[in-house]
Amino acid sequence: MLYFDHNATTSVLPEVAQFVARALSDVPGNASSIHGVGQRARQELEKARRAVSSALGATPGELVFTSGGTESNNLAIFGIVRRFRGRAVHVVTTTIEHPAVLEACGQFESDDAEVTRVEVDSNGVVNAEAVARAMRDNTVLVTVMHANNEVGTIQPIREIADAVLARRARGQEIWFHSDGVQAFGKIPFEIRDLGVDLYSISAHKVYAPKGTGALYVRKGVSLASTIVGGRHEGGRRAGTENVVGAMAFAKAVELLDSNASVRVAALRDELERQILTSDLHAELNGFGVPRLPNTTSVSFPGISAENVVIALDLKGIAVSTGSACSSGSLEPSHVLLAMGRTREQARSSVRISLGAHQSAEELRQLSETLLSTVARLQSKKGARVAV
Ligand code: PLP
Repeated sequence: MLYFDHNATTSVLPEVAQFVARALSDVPGNASSIHGVGQRARQELEKARRAVSSALGATPGELVFTSGGTESNNLAIFGIVRRFRGRAVHVVTTTIEHPAVLEACGQFESDDAEVTRVEVDSNGVVNAEAVARAMRDNTVLVTVMHANNEVGTIQPIREIADAVLARRARGQEIWFHSDGVQAFGKIPFEIRDLGVDLYSISAHKVYAPKGTGALYVRKGVSLASTIVGGRHEGGRRAGTENVVGAMAFAKAVELLDSNASVRVAALRDELERQILTSDLHAELNGFGVPRLPNTTSVSFPGISAENVVIALDLKGIAVSTGSACSSGSLEPSHVLLAMGRTREQARSSVRISLGAHQSAEELRQLSETLLSTVARLQSKKGARVAV
């Protein structure tokens, strides 16, 4: 199988899988137990925390392990908003966030808080000044993703952080969260340079198993609990820690190749060049703006992306119709609609997301099969996308 759906998930690196297999028997303890078995688990957990936090440029105390990106986003959003229970607060976000952010915002909107969803331009980038203009004196949280999972566009996080910091400097209680699930491991950055207070990451996007993530919580930022129970993770996230999950996350992070992005971007650019210079009807979504090196989203007018995905799957190639969370749904992508695409254009969009270890030969096979498949589907008389 040739796999081009790395924004949905990555496969576990063989080194990480071997490491996990050993850790499952070598580190059986509960990190909260005071005996030796527990203390060994604690040591490994803290070692993993040092490794993952250092990859972000954070300190270990600023990292809370969670069950994944969804929980990290929920912890950041509910953790801030619930501190202001009973007060009329306001939150700013964008129209292209992951459902783990949009649904969380939607939930507390019905309990008094107000939410402004700032629109993006036709390339899928939000304007930092528009986000700043949306902030009010009762805004307690701004949440804007670092990189979009469907089209790969990178958002102006630093500029938005500056607007948040300016308000905080005038005494406003306001925090900035960014969903970095797709950016982490794909583009280089230091968390301090981004200027965020909270930042979500997930292990299964960086070649570690599913079910582990982390939230960066800048020193001094306090959160209301969302999962209550024991005093795990410094009282910020109850539940026996997934020690082996954290160890696997750290191992995968150590193995991240900082040079991969240049090579992957060159492969992706070549694929796009082949699509655009072919005879096919094709339009790229999110083009000519800063974006992830591995992602391309392309509309093939007149045909349904689902048919492309199925036809390629039959030939042993995995691509996607959008995000994994929405690709099972009949609704067209909210991200593409937010970018001003019609329902028909959104329905005809295919997402291709490359992995850090893929070869030029794999890309050649994808390009050849994709171009011939789309040509065949587009030439079918009367081919139409159901909207
Ligand atoms: N945020 C973004 C941008 C994502 O792409 C994803 C996963 O696709 C998530 C959050 C959710 O992360 P997880 O699958 O670890 O819950």
